[in-house]
Amino acid sequence: MNEKTINEKMANEKTKVVLIGFDAWGAYSFPKANMPMAKRMAQNGSSAMNARCVRPAKSSCNWASMMMGAGPDIHGYIDWDTAVPAFETPTDHYGIFPTIFALIKDQRPELKIGYFYEWNLLHLFCPDAAAHHKEMMSGLSYDPGPAERIADYIRRKKPDFTFIQFDEPDHRGHEAGHDTPPYYELLTQLDSFAAIIEKGVKDSGAYDNTIFILSADHGGIGKDHGGDTPMERNIPFIVFGKNIKKGYIIQSQVMIYDIPATIAYVFGVKTPQTWIGRPITEIFNDDCNSNYELAGYGSARRISGEAEAEVKAEVKI
Ligand SMILES: [Zn+2]
Repeated sequence: MNEKTINEKMANEKTKVVLIGFDAWGAYSFPKANMPMAKRMAQNGSSAMNARCVRPAKSSCNWASMMMGAGPDIHGYIDWDTAVPAFETPTDHYGIFPTIFALIKDQRPELKIGYFYEWNLLHLFCPDAAAHHKEMMSGLSYDPGPAERIADYIRRKKPDFTFIQFDEPDHRGHEAGHDTPPYYELLTQLDSFAAIIEKGVKDSGAYDNTIFILSADHGGIGKDHGGDTPMERNIPFIVFGKNIKKGYIIQSQVMIYDIPATIAYVFGVKTPQTWIGRPITEIFNDDCNSNYELAGYGSARRISGEAEAEVKAEVKI
């Protein structure tokens, strides 16, 4: 990455980031879902409901992409449960493909990283040595207690970058089916637990200095996922908070590996050549690289997902 993609101003302002991921939260669900916090953040922030996960639309390969700024072709996590890369891959001094956590730890060692995950496989995607606090949160999707403990950590320790992975609504999608009343019921519960974490940020005194990102690893259809339908491939990308445009529909085509590149941009850390993620800079009010994404070749357009019109109605712009 060259200097133009580093937002030094934001880095100097000590901006914080909270990234919350829901496993198998398809973008298709957004118009129908009763998710007051997510909708408030979309209405008052920037969003894309046609952000796209990598193929296949499964878990490990996509969580890896969200942490590693690249796709399975190069990071090697190729399936839903890949724990060891399927082939030789570039590694950093932590012994794995470079993660956003490693970049921040190495280039901004003064920053505190909190890493919380409900699915045990996610322990792989943040090197222990890069995190100030790393913890598996069993039951995070089912009981407010674990979310309260994350909120308490944020209140007390004031981390600069916090990642939280909820392992639902994936299981609900497999058992009851995607786009079903039980699926939507769980989304409402997850939204309320995420709001507990949001309150923790408020209580920490850092709310006005924080950017929240809500997204997912993939969606689903019927009782499964892994195919190429829009319900499976399109994921929400909602960004809200400090210096983020309000009520803005993102024009760039967002890929899941653009999420860590955007976080790197906020923290002013350089990304390695092995990353292909691009920072989504059009979401920032004082974007110093305006039209960075749109300055590409000709009239190449992002995917215009079916959900887009509904999302526009939903965010009332
Ligand atoms: Zn998943």
